[in-house]
Amino acid sequence: MRPAAAKSGYRPKDRKRFGKGIFVSNNGDVFPSSFLPIRLGNVREDSLPEVYAGAAVLEEMHDASKLKGRCGACEFNHICRGSRSRAYAVTGDYLAEDPYCAYQPGTVPREELEDAEAILDEIRLTNFSRRVR
Ligand code: SF4
Repeated sequence: MRPAAAKSGYRPKDRKRFGKGIFVSNNGDVFPSSFLPIRLGNVREDSLPEVYAGAAVLEEMHDASKLKGRCGACEFNHICRGSRSRAYAVTGDYLAEDPYCAYQPGTVPREELEDAEAILDEIRLTNFSRRVR
């Protein structure tokens, strides 16, 4: 464990509880990410675990069953969930489908689903190459 992590009391198993991470700005405001401007609270008013635990927005975003559009129908949504920041930027709804994903749910043959992690990496590369064009 890194010294800073040991000092904060953070343990690797906390990662599951804290999901994919959050963003704390220089004034203490907390957001789901640096690209998703939905303020969850402020660490100068409440502790970070309190802000996190009280954020219904995070619970919704981490629940694949709440996703909409293609992300809602996608067989990979339990491991991907798409970019909630992109969904929000384009539609105003952080639960909407990721507008830059090239994947059409249901198009991967069932026998290939066992190799889901490799397929997902390919999708991420496709999304990245679309973004940098
Ligand atoms: S692969 Fe695409 S459609 Fe499926 S959850 Fe991820 S972003 Fe959404």
